[in-house]
Amino acid sequence: FRINVIPVTDKEDNINLVVTLLEDITHLKEVDQMKSEFVSMVSHEFRTPLTSMNMSINMLLEENTGSINEDQEELLTVAKEDCENLNELVDDLLDLSKIESGEIDLDFSNVAVDEIFEASVKPFTEQAEEQGVELTKEEVEDLEVHADFNKITWVITNLIGNALRYTEAGDSIKLSADKKGHKVHISVADTGAGIPKEYQHKIFDKFVRVGDDQDSNTGTGLGLAIAQEMIEAHGGRIWVESKVGEGSKFTFTLKLPH
Ligand code: ADP
Repeated sequence: FRINVIPVTDKEDNINLVVTLLEDITHLKEVDQMKSEFVSMVSHEFRTPLTSMNMSINMLLEENTGSINEDQEELLTVAKEDCENLNELVDDLLDLSKIESGEIDLDFSNVAVDEIFEASVKPFTEQAEEQGVELTKEEVEDLEVHADFNKITWVITNLIGNALRYTEAGDSIKLSADKKGHKVHISVADTGAGIPKEYQHKIFDKFVRVGDDQDSNTGTGLGLAIAQEMIEAHGGRIWVESKVGEGSKFTFTLKLPH
């Protein structure tokens, strides 16, 4: 059941009456479940032909150098990139449908935040250097969290990947962690493009991308939706603070070891 509480006020804004509606949402849940199953099924069906298309294009490109002309090579390269983007989308959709249907297993242990930071930064050190972006992590030697190491590393990797997309030479990206009560706040802050206020709560929804990104080929618009599901599965929450032209700071909470 969903409970809706509607206050009825008079001209002076005093509440005179409160109407409570109990709504049976079983059918909505069923539709949601069917939608998830459908997405998961379609994604699985896409996977095999995509893999074979990718392999065929790669073979054409790699084994026929010399016998294909420049135009043909260019067309094949475009097809290869589209294939890779579609593959990424299928992976993301499968991840999301697994989490939404509660199929995701979290492998909890007490892990050092520094180790998570180390594993998350490593894949990007070269790219950041090439881009002229300073990627740093705060020293948090003694801090531990109760979490699934791989899932949290995935979330931070995703946030760094995004940050690198919206920063340029001279900008910086900083990972930090703070103990607050029984929680640990972990942040990825960049000094890049920033996100307009009206989009800040929407970007965690599926397929939402801001401005020019809507037409761009890179990214699926699913990264933050998956990140949010993963953090919520840990019992935490994730949010963003951002200012256009100044940068964005994504923060999420995790539990301390018990
Ligand atoms: P995508 O696959 O497009 O990156 P995400 O769910 O990860 O999907 O992000 C959704 C949108 O949020 C992006 O398309 C981008 O417009 C915006 N965004 C995410 N991270 C940042 C950031 N660090 N700086 C500016 N914009 C961002």
